[in-house]
Amino acid sequence: MNPHIQVAIDGPAGTGKSTVAKRAAEALGYTFVDSGAMYRCVALAALRAGLSVEQADAIGGLAARVSIRLGPLADGKQPVWLDGEDATAAIRTPEVTALSSPVSAIPAVRAALTAQQRAFAEQGPVVMEGRDIQTVVLPHAEVKVYLSASPEVRAERRYRELRPGSTTVAAVAAAIRERDERDSTRANAPLKPADDAVVIDTDPLSVDEVAARVVALARAAEEARHA
Ligand code: C5P
Repeated sequence: MNPHIQVAIDGPAGTGKSTVAKRAAEALGYTFVDSGAMYRCVALAALRAGLSVEQADAIGGLAARVSIRLGPLADGKQPVWLDGEDATAAIRTPEVTALSSPVSAIPAVRAALTAQQRAFAEQGPVVMEGRDIQTVVLPHAEVKVYLSASPEVRAERRYRELRPGSTTVAAVAAAIRERDERDSTRANAPLKPADDAVVIDTDPLSVDEVAARVVALARAAEEARHA
């Protein structure tokens, strides 16, 4: 049995995954772990070090060296520190977003971050979200949820999160497609639902409805544990 309950939520960008995972973590009182933020931190560190994505060994070394800290949720946001510096905003720029996907395909980067993510789950109950949480990071998670949504709905949702006027829905859709394609076809830990995942199509559902389903699954797992 896992030392603490693990709720693993995966899916592509724009499914509302992050918002759902945060709401569920708050409702359950579990620690929220945004694994994508960790890949973004490595991408930011690589940019700052002037490394190009071809320098896989150097980026792998960087992933093992950098210190990434995820703070407690405040106002629906998780503060992120990279080597002691508040990187919460810096990891969300389009440049870092674009680089995070190829950086995350580097095996040494995945190995370093997967080990840290498993260590978080050793410390207490978690809601962890990403691309490979249920398949690779926490394969024995009591709750595995895979969120899906149509490409049109995902592009609209992402567009609304970005600064109005800074881009177009078509540009957001193209960037999402490119990232999905890379994340789903990579050899190492590709994005896909686990065989035993609960797959939720989020198109007709509100964030609250999806979060409520996740919370209900976690409550049932808590009860099963204490039965
Ligand atoms: O979830 P978010 O969009 O912040 O993730 C940024 C990138 O990090 C994704 O496009 C994906 O390439 C990578 N990622 C990953 N595995 C995870 C979480 C994120 O490869 N568990």
